[in-house]
Amino acid sequence: MALNELYQEVIIDHSRKPRNFYACSKATHSKQGYNPLCGDQITLYMKIVDDKIQKISFQGNGCAISTASASLMTEALTGKTLEEAKVIFAGFHDLVTKGNDEKALGKLTALAGVIEYPMRVKCATLAWHTMMAALKNDQELVCTE
Ligand code: ZN
Repeated sequence: MALNELYQEVIIDHSRKPRNFYACSKATHSKQGYNPLCGDQITLYMKIVDDKIQKISFQGNGCAISTASASLMTEALTGKTLEEAKVIFAGFHDLVTKGNDEKALGKLTALAGVIEYPMRVKCATLAWHTMMAALKNDQELVCTE
């Protein structure tokens, strides 16, 4: 697999220097996610006030794709309403599973190449599915133990 083709500049940058990479002690929503296919682990933190994502951060261990995707997601969703976040999720999901060219996604389109690699789609969407799950579980911190 020519993985190098996936590692565009944006992905390398965000995987080496992930943005919003910390545990948010004031989070109102938090959720752990795990991708057993690759071993990617993530804990996502969101501070949501009045239906708006004031803060979103993450911690975890994962491959470059999963880390970059989580990092890009936190940038894309900071300050967004929950409705906007769901629209961005749907657009991103279509981008990496159907190949729809979503110009509105901005930097997130750096991950479009994963569509060629089904295993990597799971890496790219882990943070996003964790985010959607977190929205459904107010206050609840899920532990995998
Ligand atoms: Zn991975």
